[in-house]
Amino acid sequence: MEIERHEYDVVVIGAGGAGLRAAIEARQQGKRTAIVCKSLFGKAHTVMAEGGAAAAMGNVNPDDNWMVHFRDTMRGGKFLNNWRMAELHAKEAPDRVWELEAWGALFDRTKDGKISQRNFGGHEYPRLAHVGDRTGLELIRTLQQRVVALQQEDYDNHGDYEAYIKVFAECTVTRLLKDGDRISGAFGYWRETGNLVLFDAPAVVLATGGIGKSYVVTSNSWEYTGDGHALALLAGAKLINMEFIQFHPTGMVWPPSVRGILVTESVRGDGGVLRNSEGRRFMFDYIPEVFKDKYATTEEEADRWYTDQANNRRPPELLPRDEVARAINAEVKAGRGSPQGGVFLDVSTRLPAEEIKKRLPSMHHQFKELADVDITAEPMQVGPTCHYIMGGVEVDADTGAADVPGLFAAGEVSGGMHGSNRLGGNSLSDLLVFGRRAGAGAAAYVDGLPARPKVAPESVEAAREEALAPLGRGGENPYEVHQELQRTMNELVGIIRKADEVAEALQTVEKLKERVRMVGAGGSRIYNPGWHLALDLRNMVLVSECVARAALLREESRGGHTRDDFPGMNPEWRRKLLVCSSEDGSSVQVTEKVQPAMRDDLITLFDRDELNKYLTDEEMAEFDGIAK
Ligand code: FAD
Repeated sequence: MEIERHEYDVVVIGAGGAGLRAAIEARQQGKRTAIVCKSLFGKAHTVMAEGGAAAAMGNVNPDDNWMVHFRDTMRGGKFLNNWRMAELHAKEAPDRVWELEAWGALFDRTKDGKISQRNFGGHEYPRLAHVGDRTGLELIRTLQQRVVALQQEDYDNHGDYEAYIKVFAECTVTRLLKDGDRISGAFGYWRETGNLVLFDAPAVVLATGGIGKSYVVTSNSWEYTGDGHALALLAGAKLINMEFIQFHPTGMVWPPSVRGILVTESVRGDGGVLRNSEGRRFMFDYIPEVFKDKYATTEEEADRWYTDQANNRRPPELLPRDEVARAINAEVKAGRGSPQGGVFLDVSTRLPAEEIKKRLPSMHHQFKELADVDITAEPMQVGPTCHYIMGGVEVDADTGAADVPGLFAAGEVSGGMHGSNRLGGNSLSDLLVFGRRAGAGAAAYVDGLPARPKVAPESVEAAREEALAPLGRGGENPYEVHQELQRTMNELVGIIRKADEVAEALQTVEKLKERVRMVGAGGSRIYNPGWHLALDLRNMVLVSECVARAALLREESRGGHTRDDFPGMNPEWRRKLLVCSSEDGSSVQVTEKVQPAMRDDLITLFDRDELNKYLTDEEMAEFDGIAK
């Protein structure tokens, strides 16, 4: 069978916010760039982002600046974040948002005409630049428009729109190729025809998003099968922080067909409150010690905060997501849940109907269409849903380089930036900041190469055999294997974890690995979803093994990782990162690595009392030495 072949300088896998921003940068640095995505162009998961992009522009509260944003991000991640990434992110996010505006993004405005910013959990000041509750759509639209503008420029200069940047949509990458230890390209197939395709390129940027489809209840779209995580692992790169998964507190719980679909945090940012079946605003009962001085302890103070933030503390509904998700879980378990197994989220008694429709148009539409609930007149029922993975490819903060030469990663597929828990709004800004950096990193790497790595025919043949193996094989049904994996991860490696349950999940994953090797798909190569799932399963099982192995080893509770048998945070564990690797792709090894100490000028941005909640005695002694 013929394999279609293309040559590029940089191949970006993924056309969400991170991939598009990386591709724009690589092209702007003069590199011939391919954008490959398994969904339709314009349909990446980023489109679903609702609330906004966090950037300390200080438009709504002039006290905001990069240092406050940096502190909030580190707090949200419970100090496990790669602090250099958190620093770059906080410093560069405003420029990336203004740049989007210059490229045509139409953000909502303040009364005096600046980009409007809204409140979100864990952010001290209103910080999310937004477009109603459809921010991701505008972000993707603008980046695509920028790609088209560059293509028009290329047409003017070279007579070919696709001379320097070309999109390969509905094309799935199944393997990265190497020449010795260096990246030499990527191999995949066209979803529509099943034809095989090879990209010969010295640099690959992974921007494939998350892993949510390994769980039953998830806000994630169909393409979130952990492909980039697995491709990196199989190419010899390392994944960090894989035990940290964000369960967003508010997903729809009813009807069953839409369970997990996201209810944006903007509902709470704009005044919505959480109540249990007894009508109690229960979040006041769940303010953890580390956040006690920052959150209101009475309903009166919480309500005053919406109009006077200088003199009141914020409502506990706006605690970081991990805290709110655990609180909802606890209320439901205690028998105080809503009829369909969630809790109530009410905005109807808090804002006039017209205001709700204006501020939350998608939520109004979503509940009306999917659940026959009018959110201007009655409360929603909501519960936790698997939303985001903090873990991902270990990269150099400044360039996005993984430790395989020629491999780069940005966006949700990369790890470190968000530590153990991501703040809402910090992903869209992460995509822009680190997408740009990874594109620049890849371009600089190509410039510095003495010779172009070669694609070895044997590795192409191996990738071809692997991709075609499930076809016509009368083996296991991929849908049944997928369902068992999703159930296992949801029930045994979910929001609250215990050693014996995670160990049981690992045993099941081991058996599923064997079954995945035997999955078969009837029919031909032409648009065959069973075949596509059979190939995606390799990735989901491998990534699930990473999550479960790391979750079993981390004997503490922090951010998105809650151990019932180790309920507290342990300062010793904060210094440790769990690093997953896979020597031969058949199993995962996890090792510990020490987190580098924070730079002096950054650590002194925090109060001693706050650091004392997270740092070891030894680190505190060092801090006292610096702060003197
Ligand atoms: P994506 O946008 O997911 O793009 C991944 C791309 O990779 C796609 O083009 C896909 O087709 C491609 N791909 C995947 N595998 C392959 C493969 N094997 N071969 C080829 N292509 C492949 N974050 C915020 O900051 N603010 C918000 O308001 C917000 N709201 C959200 C609302 C919802 C409902 C959800 C689910 C998430 C939200 N998030 C939000 C999170 C945020 O949207 C994501 O983390 C972010 O969009 C991820 O972007 P990305 O560029 O990394 O990947």
